[in-house]
Amino acid sequence: MIIRKKFKFEGAHIVRNCSTKRCKKSIHGHSYEVEVFFTSNKLDNGYMILDFGLTKKHIKNIIDSFDHAYSFWSKEKEEFKNFFKTNSERWIEMPVSPSVESYSLMFLKFIDTVLKQTTFSNGEGDISVSSVRVHETKTSYAEAFRADMSLIELDLKQVIFSNEVINEWEEKDELLNILST
Ligand SMILES: [Zn+2]
Repeated sequence: MIIRKKFKFEGAHIVRNCSTKRCKKSIHGHSYEVEVFFTSNKLDNGYMILDFGLTKKHIKNIIDSFDHAYSFWSKEKEEFKNFFKTNSERWIEMPVSPSVESYSLMFLKFIDTVLKQTTFSNGEGDISVSSVRVHETKTSYAEAFRADMSLIELDLKQVIFSNEVINEWEEKDELLNILST
């Protein structure tokens, strides 16, 4: 059985090296929708795969980090990166280009990391994220499945969140601890 929780964020990026000029040369934004699909081998005491309320802490924090934030590839010029780090509070530096494909793969990996370090106490089974679908526009999305992680090399420790982003995380010490292990 698959259950799905939807999140949203308003984010800005440039996708260097893509084919469309507007996309690769100019900062622009999208109203992203993120669908996270979970599965498990059993139901909990409430006959649920996963209580959706339990996704509203670390999983929501991670996705919400990208809201009203500028995401940029670490391969941008130093001068360009420093400008944003100095003049904008909410930014994320990523080791991969911030395409919708990268977002879906990255969220899948983040959520997988959070789930593996979460202790469930209501009779839940072996909960895992089966896929993450990120809609970039009303007509386009990318969906990452677990087997797709081999498409990119992605060390989550190289995803750098600005201090302002981290400071808005609920229970940030717990999430920082999860992400550092
Ligand atoms: Zn775009």
